[in-house]
Amino acid sequence: MIEKVLPDIYRIEIPLPRSPLKALNAYLVKGQGHNLLIDTGQNREECKQAMLAGLKELEVDLTRTDFFITHLHVDHVGLVADLITDTSCVYFNQKEAQIVNADKADLEKRWQGRNVFYESNGFPRAELEEALNKHPFHLYGLRQHIDFVVLSEGDVLQAGDYSFSCLETPGHSLGHMCLYEPEHKILVSGDHILFDITPNITYWPEMEDSLSKYLTSLDKVYDFEVDITLPGHRKSGKSHRQRIRELQAHHQARANEVLSALEKGRKTAFQIAPHITWNLNCRSWDDFPAPQKWFAVGETIAHLQYLEKKGAIKSACEDNQILYSLA
Ligand SMILES: [Zn+2]
Repeated sequence: MIEKVLPDIYRIEIPLPRSPLKALNAYLVKGQGHNLLIDTGQNREECKQAMLAGLKELEVDLTRTDFFITHLHVDHVGLVADLITDTSCVYFNQKEAQIVNADKADLEKRWQGRNVFYESNGFPRAELEEALNKHPFHLYGLRQHIDFVVLSEGDVLQAGDYSFSCLETPGHSLGHMCLYEPEHKILVSGDHILFDITPNITYWPEMEDSLSKYLTSLDKVYDFEVDITLPGHRKSGKSHRQRIRELQAHHQARANEVLSALEKGRKTAFQIAPHITWNLNCRSWDDFPAPQKWFAVGETIAHLQYLEKKGAIKSACEDNQILYSLA
């Protein structure tokens, strides 16, 4: 499905079957010399067919198209290898380019390290394996080295009549980047700001206290004058400022749920997660599919690190289990 969102800017909806996200929004900015395609979809046939059909309808010549990837999640970067040509530039951030292009052994080591950490947070081994086997990274990830062109804060990308400035917005991911177009007051928000769902803020081995980083990045974007926000999933909303306040309140409420869960004694992150209100179509925590438990526990750990940094809670390690309690 294609929607014209602004002159020369089109939203191409890329389906994400069986994902709670439902679809990815890729944005095509048409230019006289080169087009710019923002985000791509997962490395799977359903995404590829939808993208190719959309590009055909928009009469896009891929030999005259560059790519900007907001962040490393596979629904954004996964399909890019299938779309690039010898003349394409793929713009990306430094930190995540390193992870995406790491060799197999290093990637395996990174996953193993995360497994050990999740187990020490109480995640049962068998469920952990099931969650990781079904993780989108392993199913639909990029399978090819890409020579990314690395961008950082303030770098400018020109496409058509638009001049996009890069904004570093870490939090949802390590090196997440938004684009801001000052003349037309457009914010391409990736997964930093979503309107009818909340971006997942999780544990990152390379980023301590990701929730604080995320909240700081929300404050940063709040100050920009924005008439239209183009999010990575679902529909756009009216006011980015109103949404930022809602997202901040959401994380405060979630942090309070963590504190309440600890009132009756110390717990692992895995034991705290069922006490949090998750926006998922399941009757109870036990009904959560293993991959959703993995995302929920990651988000719980992010809130625990945030609260510990603030001094509201403390942690202790006993028998390889990290136990949290009120400070
Ligand atoms: Zn994402």
